[in-house]
Amino acid sequence: MYIICSEGYGAEMKIADILKSESLSLSFEVFPPKTETGFESVKAATEEIAKLKPSFMSVTYGAGGGTSKYTLDIAKNIKDMYGVPTLAHLTCVSSTKETVREKIREIKKAGISNVMALRGDIPESMVNDDRSKWDYNFAVDLIYELKSINPDFCIGGACYPEIHPESPNQKEDIKRLKEKVDAGCDFLTTQMFFDNNLLYNFLYKIREAGITVPVIPGIMPITNANQVERAVKLSGSFMPQRFKSLVDKFGSEPLAMKQAGIAYATDQIIDLYANNITNVHVYSMNKPDVAKLIQGNLSDIIKR
Ligand code: FAD
Repeated sequence: MYIICSEGYGAEMKIADILKSESLSLSFEVFPPKTETGFESVKAATEEIAKLKPSFMSVTYGAGGGTSKYTLDIAKNIKDMYGVPTLAHLTCVSSTKETVREKIREIKKAGISNVMALRGDIPESMVNDDRSKWDYNFAVDLIYELKSINPDFCIGGACYPEIHPESPNQKEDIKRLKEKVDAGCDFLTTQMFFDNNLLYNFLYKIREAGITVPVIPGIMPITNANQVERAVKLSGSFMPQRFKSLVDKFGSEPLAMKQAGIAYATDQIIDLYANNITNVHVYSMNKPDVAKLIQGNLSDIIKR
């Protein structure tokens, strides 16, 4: 995934290029620690995941930018020590131009080629603000900023097969998504979903709207019953009856629930591969065991 040069791992491969390959692959998402105290354990977990040699790893950015330093530290470590291409997330909505520009320069300086350009959720304290005074209102504003500082960044954007919660309808959401892609998104990653048909319908609609960039489906393995409520609240995702039955039956038995959740996610991924999706992104939540089990389930399917 890297161009090897005399100093070790050279220029980081762009995700847009990884996605051009016809081989099937998996990528994993991790999140940074909230505080310095948690740094070493998060670093160790992300290193275990990096050792699985996924096609790339994304590192999220804490809401409001509070954990921004750690996003870059974790991404840089994965890239420099394990040669795994990274995707550094960045949000803009509650930040000033000065802060965002500084972050972008730091990302560039760290040698990271791939940036996930996000608006971020609007903090409750800002909901009633006069938004015309904000430096950034939407992810599209950040994409222009990234391009102006480094036209060479490979830029990802978020998309929502079940519609972004603030959007009035899917037509409007797809229209805004097209603007984001036209501004310079090289690929899109989806919000989690538990019914693949929702993704296939969404892909059909965005292709019809003229959005042609690769779309990476995001799959969240639900490995304990408490995660279900959180995941639904966060994403607004539809829970198919098949999934609800699984949680009803195994939710109170941690080991059984973990096995069933991993099997469900694996099943979703196999169906996506069977339908010509080449890379699937797994929300591995800093859990190397979960990442390893899913990758193991696919070992003869992913020929690397
Ligand atoms: P946008 O693309 O700006 O869209 C937000 C809303 O505004 C949508 O309803 C859209 O239709 C609408 N819209 C867009 N442009 C316009 C316009 N010009 N005029 C009017 N309406 C418009 N959050 C974090 O804090 N950190 C992370 O690391 C993180 N990673 C994520 C990764 C993925 C794959 C996904 C799907 C989400 C992630 N999020 C993360 C959550 C994300 O920040 C929220 O969902 C946020 O509410 C929207 O971000 P966005 O980039 O999709 O926004």
